[in-house]
Amino acid sequence: MMKIHNSIVLSQSATTRPMFKTPRCRLLSDSVVHNSTMQPALASRHVAVIGAGAGGLVAARELWREGHKVVVFEREDQVGGTWVYTPKVESDPIGIHPNRTTVHSSMYESLRTNLPREVMGFRDYPFVAREGGEERDPRRFPGHKEVLMYLKDFSREFGVSEMVRLETEVVVVDAAEGGRWKVKSRSKGGGGVEDEIYDAVVVCSGHFTEPRLPQFPGINTWKGKQFHSHNYRNPEPFRDQVVILIGSSASAVDISREIAGVAKEVHIASRSVADETLQKQPGYDNMWLHSMIENAHDDGNVVFKDGSVVLADTILYCTGYKYHFPFLETNGTVTVDDNRVGPLYKHVLPPASAPSLSFVGIPWKVVPFPLFEFQSKWIAGLLSNRIALPSKEEMMEDVKTFYSLLEASGTPKRYTHNLGGCQFEYDDWIAAQCGCPVSEEWRKQMYSEVSKNKRARPETYRDEWEDDHLVLQAHEDFKKYTLNGVSNG
Ligand code: FAD
Repeated sequence: MMKIHNSIVLSQSATTRPMFKTPRCRLLSDSVVHNSTMQPALASRHVAVIGAGAGGLVAARELWREGHKVVVFEREDQVGGTWVYTPKVESDPIGIHPNRTTVHSSMYESLRTNLPREVMGFRDYPFVAREGGEERDPRRFPGHKEVLMYLKDFSREFGVSEMVRLETEVVVVDAAEGGRWKVKSRSKGGGGVEDEIYDAVVVCSGHFTEPRLPQFPGINTWKGKQFHSHNYRNPEPFRDQVVILIGSSASAVDISREIAGVAKEVHIASRSVADETLQKQPGYDNMWLHSMIENAHDDGNVVFKDGSVVLADTILYCTGYKYHFPFLETNGTVTVDDNRVGPLYKHVLPPASAPSLSFVGIPWKVVPFPLFEFQSKWIAGLLSNRIALPSKEEMMEDVKTFYSLLEASGTPKRYTHNLGGCQFEYDDWIAAQCGCPVSEEWRKQMYSEVSKNKRARPETYRDEWEDDHLVLQAHEDFKKYTLNGVSNG
């Protein structure tokens, strides 16, 4: 049976629309500002949120705060998304077989956050250390379990848990009449398949599950074992082996060091070093940094661009992930091409369906939780008509200008959503749209200090730092939101 949920007009008097100038940034094109004087009535929409990870949880809270009616679909049996650690791995260790058993989370057993908790947390729900016995991890860079507990606290304290339908997978999202969306979901608990109509859909399904693999000559006939870091849990499978690890992300750095403790040799292949690079890693007798792989051979040998040859047992890909929305049927209005999800206005809205279809969490190389919070506030305000959007044509023009800027700067398509140095400008632009405070100065400075510290002390940055003055500033700021360490959000 099809259920239809209608949107409700809240009031005839809309609040003032914010009109702000876009900040300059290499990766952000100038925004078109909508300056119509017509102000539509405020509305409460019925919104489907797909996924109950950090993105879906904060989207649900912001939508609810704005007066919308929200249902969050979550296919797993608990909220938390990628922070729900599981020892289970997929049946295909490189994750390319279409019929493999899939596992959502990419967390490994020893993972500690790569951001300090002050920077990482939602803006008005600080990630402060909490009482709670041995279960809790008060460290500044805590383990993955503490992050999961934080997200569960958030979900419970803001009543989001009551909006979540657990073990319910969205299998199809399709355009329905009147600019609405048909959401087909399947519940595990014998509830069968259900079709419902929603005014809007917010996609928060995560993008750290579908492995991305590099291609190089000879790999298809190479006889060794291959893994993607999505299926890495601990170093045991690599004991006494010669391992080639490809990648240089935060996870690659952690995993290479962990494996070096048990493996015979670890050879790191990195795209970001010169071709002639071959360096023994300081502090290790069995770990080397190389340039990328040139080719692999049937006899197990792997040749690097630096000319060295390694007879390896295993290749471990720490090469990132692909955006993947198997449930989305948009007739080509949103596509994924070389890891560009597009066209998306400001990485959130496909112009043809804005704002009824939106995406939270697409940008990478960012501080995710606060960025999700800004994006969610924006989406919530757009859906209620409190915040205005440019016309579809103007949004499309903005996207095209952005793509041209990327091309002109030689940025590969697959880096479209890498905000890197622009992330705080991006956050602040959205904050201006929403009429809410921009990112805190201490957060920007702390992020920069931690990045420097990470480069200087890759082994110990989580336990040694010199930015205590910023920690004090953060805690001063948190007093606005916490009372005795407990949120009064
Ligand atoms: P997810 O957490 O992946 O949640 C998506 C949810 O959607 C999942 O629960 C999934 O089950 C559900 N879902 C998917 N498809 C469907 C469907 N069809 N129907 C219903 N439900 C569906 N960030 C930091 O801030 N600090 C860190 O230190 C850090 N370390 C990281 C380490 C690793 C190894 C990884 C992989 C990521 C790390 N991140 C870190 C980034 C992290 O991914 C984000 O912080 C954030 O948790 C992502 O949230 P999300 O909601 O976008 O996605």
